[in-house]
Amino acid sequence: MARIGFYPGSFDPVTYGHLDIIARAARLADRLVLGVGTHHGKHSLIPVETRMTLLETVTRPIAEHTGARISVTTFGGLAVDAARAHHAGFIIRGLRDATDFDYEVQMAQMNVSLAPDIETVFLSASPATRMIASSLVKQIARMGGDISLFVPKEAQTVMAAVLATASH
Ligand code: ADP
Repeated sequence: MARIGFYPGSFDPVTYGHLDIIARAARLADRLVLGVGTHHGKHSLIPVETRMTLLETVTRPIAEHTGARISVTTFGGLAVDAARAHHAGFIIRGLRDATDFDYEVQMAQMNVSLAPDIETVFLSASPATRMIASSLVKQIARMGGDISLFVPKEAQTVMAAVLATASH
């Protein structure tokens, strides 16, 4: 039976932290589905279609390298429902620090109550990318800072275009 993992997130924008988790999760799964959340109330900077295209582009080398199939989808409801719709047996989450830990463990426990057949697998952030958060990348980019250490060049291009449009 194929091992299918579901990795939900905002990916607004995708960072080297996400890519580190994706590359490591791709070694655990035959198929990895990346779910771009489109929740109401969570205001995003980059349009969802752009976030999806960006994810497809920057994860292609990981798929080639690991042999895992990586696909990108959107979801607006519960992560467990989206995971089940894609026949995923597990949800992937990344843990950076104690704040992530408290929130993520609580969410995993709620999710397992809702869907006992879907496990959450936590991957601890790698030291080199642990400090990266999409929210801070956005703040730095808005203030004209260099985000090249935190996101791939395709994401830098998208951020520059989105911020240029937003300032007009
Ligand atoms: P953010 O929290 O930066 O806005 P997302 O909502 O897209 O990012 O997060 C999706 C998942 O990716 C979460 O499990 C989050 O903890 C994880 N994640 C985000 N950034 C990193 C990172 N630098 N290293 C490891 N995991 C991360």
